[in-house]
Amino acid sequence: MIQFENVDVVYPNGFQGLRNVNLRINPGEFVVIVGLSGAGKSTLVRTINGLVPYTAGKLTVHDEVVNPASRTGIRRLRSKIGMIFQSFNLVNRISVLSNVLVGRSSYLSTWRSLLGWYRPEDKDIAFRSLERVGIVEKAYVRASSLSGGQQQRVAIARVLAQDPSVILADEPVASLDPPTAHMVLQDLKRINQELGITTIVNLHHLDMARRYADRVIGMRAGEVVFDGTVDEATDTA
Ligand code: ADP
Ligand code: ADP
Repeated sequence: MIQFENVDVVYPNGFQGLRNVNLRINPGEFVVIVGLSGAGKSTLVRTINGLVPYTAGKLTVHDEVVNPASRTGIRRLRSKIGMIFQSFNLVNRISVLSNVLVGRSSYLSTWRSLLGWYRPEDKDIAFRSLERVGIVEKAYVRASSLSGGQQQRVAIARVLAQDPSVILADEPVASLDPPTAHMVLQDLKRINQELGITTIVNLHHLDMARRYADRVIGMRAGEVVFDGTVDEATDTA
């Protein structure tokens, strides 16, 4: 469970990124956060893995208070939280498989995977993750040779290789054309259903969310202005 209680984020320049956020996200939920650019969606998801430190209130993930000042606490937190970005953030010059092995984390194993030294069990997990997103046949090609949709699937496989309990996807389809965007969202939804991974997805448009979201959270100017089912939601959130 992820719980925000009266959470504020004030950035170092004084800008208030989040304002009194109260939310409870249950295990296995598929939640879509909608709002205009600058509404605070990114700030919200980034507080969950400690990328953005919150400055007031209380945030708990799996019954542990997120303490942005604790390096071991943040490392433990991030080991269980997979993050997906708009820009895919793959290492372009290495293979798809090596990119997925980066998900088997720790800096040491990242270096090993860059050098091509894989533990067999890590390699098995990487292949299974690629199978789950349907691109196992691309395992040995360079990441940069793939289309945007395929690259985002590799990013999802990398996160799966991490065996996360939570996936945070920050505008994962913003740079994809609509049909490809739907395929990526379908993958995220299917994985959520098959593996029960709590999934939080930031999207610009509610329209994209309609087919997938169990729950929609609307944000405006750092505040949660809507929290309900997709049927109750309107694009004005
Ligand atoms: P969204 O994801 O909804 O587009 P963001 O969370 O990225 O919104 O940004 C919300 C607001 O916080 C924006 O006005 C943005 O400029 C501001 N912001 C984001 N990061 C920082 C930062 N590091 N310092 C100051 N302001 C920031
Ligand atoms: P994205 O498109 O991924 O949301 P942004 O362009 O909003 O990224 O922000 C890119 C980076 O700049 C982020 O790390 C964000 O925290 C930071 N940032 C955004 N707005 C501001 C701001 N007004 N002042 C300082 N840093 C900012």
